[in-house]
Amino acid sequence: MKVLIFGGTHGNEWTGVMAVTQYAEVFKKKFPTLDLHFVLCNPEAYKINRRFKDEDLNRAFQFLHESRPDSYEHHRARELKALIDAQDCFVIDLHTTTSHMGKTVILCHNHPLNLKVSEELTQKMRDCRIILSPDPNKKYLASQSEMGMMIEVGPVANGLVEPVVLEGTLSILEGILSALAAPSETLKNCVEVYEEIQDVHYPQSENNLPSAYIHSDFQGKDFCEINGDYTPFKTFAGHNIHLKTNEKLYPIFINEAAYYPQQLAYTLCRKRILKY
Ligand SMILES: [Zn+2]
Repeated sequence: MKVLIFGGTHGNEWTGVMAVTQYAEVFKKKFPTLDLHFVLCNPEAYKINRRFKDEDLNRAFQFLHESRPDSYEHHRARELKALIDAQDCFVIDLHTTTSHMGKTVILCHNHPLNLKVSEELTQKMRDCRIILSPDPNKKYLASQSEMGMMIEVGPVANGLVEPVVLEGTLSILEGILSALAAPSETLKNCVEVYEEIQDVHYPQSENNLPSAYIHSDFQGKDFCEINGDYTPFKTFAGHNIHLKTNEKLYPIFINEAAYYPQQLAYTLCRKRILKY
């Protein structure tokens, strides 16, 4: 099977950059039956240690039909799309987050192979969680093939190689490749996922600036169950902001630095079992 492994889609996420530039030969030797290709996605953004040069590459795929001659990432998205479309392939896109997410895999499609690999991964790695992030507009790189997933590990600062995050990323990558190379015979054909259902934004003041920040009791509580009242924010004036859920939900991407421009504070998920 052809497997495309993408790193550095965001140029300041150095874990992925190191994974595809430093470990390609190690993985090729370890998995000789797989046709592995490692790609540094956004070398221009990596050079300047920024998430992107002109636009977010991991959102650029929804604009492929447009003409954007001045955008480096638009040009790069077209090249990467052609690479993916050349042949049936499994796509793995490596990311990191400043949120306390631990080891996660993000699925954009319910393709049975994605669910099978995810089940096997969670059987072998009890601390790895699966997020379902449906992408109907196909904006993500990993959505460009029905078969594929993102790896998302944190917390790590941008532009930093943090050993736990790097080694966690490599262990998930190895888990995915071993599930593709030699599938387990002891699967139950179902997998627990955290499905993204709602984005929560920072409260705004009149001048379009945030009026609050993440509460200290909420910071780092990614994947911790919320059921009823909770306190996600504190205003800069010193008041707690309380919110409520009507069911058990789980926050992820709490205080992700890259989402400040969109004023996105965290995303709520519902736990589900997906059968395949
Ligand atoms: Zn990223």
